[in-house]
Amino acid sequence: MVNPKSAELDGGLYLVSVPIGTARDITLRALDILAGVDVIAAEDTRSMRRLLDIHGVVLGDRPLIAYHDHNGPRVRPKLLQWLREGRSVAYASEAGTPMVADPGFDLARAAREDGTPVTAAPGPVAAIVALTLSGLPTDRFLFAGFLPSNKGRRKSALQDLAMIEATLILYESPKRCAASLADMASVLGEDRPAALCRELTKKFEEVRRGTLAELAAEMAERPVKGEVVLVVAGADGDSSNLSSDDVDSRLKEVIPRMSLRDSVDLVAAESGMKRRQVYQRALDLIGRDAQEDQGGDGDFGAVNGADAEGEKGGDAQ
Ligand code: SAM
Repeated sequence: MVNPKSAELDGGLYLVSVPIGTARDITLRALDILAGVDVIAAEDTRSMRRLLDIHGVVLGDRPLIAYHDHNGPRVRPKLLQWLREGRSVAYASEAGTPMVADPGFDLARAAREDGTPVTAAPGPVAAIVALTLSGLPTDRFLFAGFLPSNKGRRKSALQDLAMIEATLILYESPKRCAASLADMASVLGEDRPAALCRELTKKFEEVRRGTLAELAAEMAERPVKGEVVLVVAGADGDSSNLSSDDVDSRLKEVIPRMSLRDSVDLVAAESGMKRRQVYQRALDLIGRDAQEDQGGDGDFGAVNGADAEGEKGGDAQ
């Protein structure tokens, strides 16, 4: 066991991350802070007491105060008063990092507005652990918290997420997992890769990977227990229904028959590819064709050069 250092700390609010399962995932600095602050405020005082016991942190006669969504307005003034007096106060939510789908935001904001120093002792966040294990892209991600429990509102929240080109991370209750995955499959698309990450850092940690449709079907048949994070691949960016080669072939077909502008509009609508991209491909093809024409074997009929010029200065987007 590591002996936490109960050195005297400067006055201020310390936002302390705690484990999301395995008790030893707490950081040494978090233990030092918990050992040294004048006051500990916790979303759940029982689990905080257990954590202190496990790590040999002596509470002594220091106050351990419950602070959560229900008693926040009543307890906050007392904590702020202590902070104004220059005391050091640690705040920890029940699991992971405070304020990540957890209380602490109002307390930190009020402390900052009071001119109190606010700092963090970072540590576990279930969303990040799930992202790390999901196998999905980690370069861009969006944490969307919990989806609404009402089906209509859940679907509309999912519609807002549908076009986001970043991996989506959602917290979900095991009871609602099957329904949420079914709605995700219908709104975000059945084929989107996803991962259901369960009981992270705990004995029964499990990551199920598959498409949204596969996970929804599996969940309906074999519901899960425990805590769950859902991770879903972001929108593709290129929502084209045709391959680039198909788009080129179609452009070659239609450009001889109509203006460049109409050709681009038609192929953009047919393919789902962005108009600007179709326009660029058309210009490339015309350029290529003109060069080939000089060699005598181009495969376009008449191409209206004036039309192409007009497009360049026009509204292609
Ligand atoms: N503040 C926490 C954090 O930093 O991740 C999250 C607390 S939030 C009230 C609880 C939700 O986080 C759970 O419903 C679940 O979606 C997710 N969660 C927390 N611990 C987890 C774990 N060990 N495995 C999977 N999900 C977990």
